[in-house]
Amino acid sequence: MPQIKKEVILFGIPGSPGIAHGTVFRFLHQDVEVPSYQINESERESELDRFKTAVDITRDQITEIRKAVSSNLGEKEAGIFDAHLLVLEDQALFDDINKEIQDSGDNIEQCVFRVTKRYHDYFNQLEDEYLRERAADLKDISKRLLRNLIGETGAGTAFLEEPRILASEDLSPSDTASLDRNKILGIATDTGGRTGHAVIMARASGVPAVVGLRGLIEQLSDSDTLLIDGFEGVAIINPSETTLFRYGKVDLQRKKLTDLLIGESELPAETKDGTKIRFLVNADSSREVIQGLENNCEGVGLFRTESTFLRKNEIPTEDQQVDDYLSLVCAANGKPVTIRTLDLGGDKILDSIGREKEENPFMGFRAIRYCLRHPAIFLDQLRAILRVSAHGPVHIMFPMISGVGEIIRAKEFLTKAKSELQERGIDFDHGIKVGCMIETPSAVTISDMLADEVDFFSVGTNDLVQYLLAVDRINNEISYLYEPHHPAVIRAIEQIARVSKEKNIEVTLCGEIAGDPHFLPLLIGLGVDALSATSTMLPELKFFGRRFTMAEVHELRSKIMEMRRPSEIKECLKSFYEERVSELII
Ligand code: PEP
Ligand code: MG
Repeated sequence: MPQIKKEVILFGIPGSPGIAHGTVFRFLHQDVEVPSYQINESERESELDRFKTAVDITRDQITEIRKAVSSNLGEKEAGIFDAHLLVLEDQALFDDINKEIQDSGDNIEQCVFRVTKRYHDYFNQLEDEYLRERAADLKDISKRLLRNLIGETGAGTAFLEEPRILASEDLSPSDTASLDRNKILGIATDTGGRTGHAVIMARASGVPAVVGLRGLIEQLSDSDTLLIDGFEGVAIINPSETTLFRYGKVDLQRKKLTDLLIGESELPAETKDGTKIRFLVNADSSREVIQGLENNCEGVGLFRTESTFLRKNEIPTEDQQVDDYLSLVCAANGKPVTIRTLDLGGDKILDSIGREKEENPFMGFRAIRYCLRHPAIFLDQLRAILRVSAHGPVHIMFPMISGVGEIIRAKEFLTKAKSELQERGIDFDHGIKVGCMIETPSAVTISDMLADEVDFFSVGTNDLVQYLLAVDRINNEISYLYEPHHPAVIRAIEQIARVSKEKNIEVTLCGEIAGDPHFLPLLIGLGVDALSATSTMLPELKFFGRRFTMAEVHELRSKIMEMRRPSEIKECLKSFYEERVSELII
């Protein structure tokens, strides 16, 4: 009789809504531990044979990944894997590994590790940027070769035969960018918070996710099944029949809601008494823009340019960026697109720029701070954004502004980029609208001063919450303190919206709470002009928006402004939602 595995329930943080159930795929992306031992002379041939087999497996894997990336992201992105394939064909590398094994008498893993590291270190110190980038290719290839020699499953999902639940200690945004989404039913991680960028990407692709599940990985083996509940933040290892039945019912309710959303998809986005609600989409790719338009959004409120940089794992040239942004603007089909300048740093690390590790990355060398210190990178990007502004309505937005000086300097760069284009005789929108993110406490306090420098604000609550409450957004030890319902956050949004009205500029909110239906009436009540959310959440936002009046919104706002505890505010917003939606789906 087959042995029934014990059910284990773990509680974490809801990352992306949805329920998923399937076999586990343990995703290992940490550095490979390289075994070290001496071999006899007679074993050298067989060690080299093992190497040749690992090269064949690696070549097959990369070819598969290349194919998947080509169909998911395009042929241009897939081209980066050609460099990997070329490394595998390099005779000099084979000769050096052969020599290393003869000279040292060490096992093949050690020899591969040492030789590839020598190559990597050599390329990494070269002046030529192109050759330095080859160092990152070598590192990737060497890790993959070593994993295949050792028999570990490494990064990458393209080789999975059937979709699985990906379980990992943590997941970086670049890991997430390289996943084949057709092979992933859901994501469960030991660490992470609700607004980490990997989670934001999962939400955008509609993949259910639960994060902050401490101890998950050490309890899992590859043959286990896992059920994840991305609404409540629960993961269940080897769920029993009863559990599966219970979750089947929850799934059914969600399906009922989905049917209702489809039924109302052509209705306008407005409150019950006809006040228009403006929804925009947060997009990382043209696919998400199209998805947003299908859900009737009015444009792109936030395009995180660093996503394309992370997907390529390099800093694209001005021309490459023009191609990327142009495809976005074309997908938006005449609707406005807000392109945010590079926001690298924090949890968005680009290996290829080889930066020093920081003690406090979220408070560190991030976003506009990085751009102002790297004029060549910044100007390339500004020129690229300006160039696409000739092809459709484009706005430009600067992230993580903490003082007026930064916005003034950023605008000076913009002026320089404009005159460079003018000298080159290239067309652009001379009156391009410029905005800034409000995501630091100082930006809130001086929002009146910032408003004199820009055409619009966009509130980034993902960061604002972490900086206002001094709670790292991806540290699950303190995730219970990461509280967007905190009165300090609500007062800050109220202040920004009030100042924007006084200064007659538009304010959008593009943090993750914009996609949380429970927050919708409050944000409208606080005076936010437009909400920019993940495309997958737009239908539910609109559906709910059509179920309350502005009088109810104002009443709710007054009630909430009096409340002192986040839990009380959270409960109040939840009841307001459930009173209007729950009975429709029971
Ligand atoms: C935010 O901070 O709310 C935001 C939208 O920016 P990001 O999540 O990219 O930091
Ligand atoms: Mg931010």
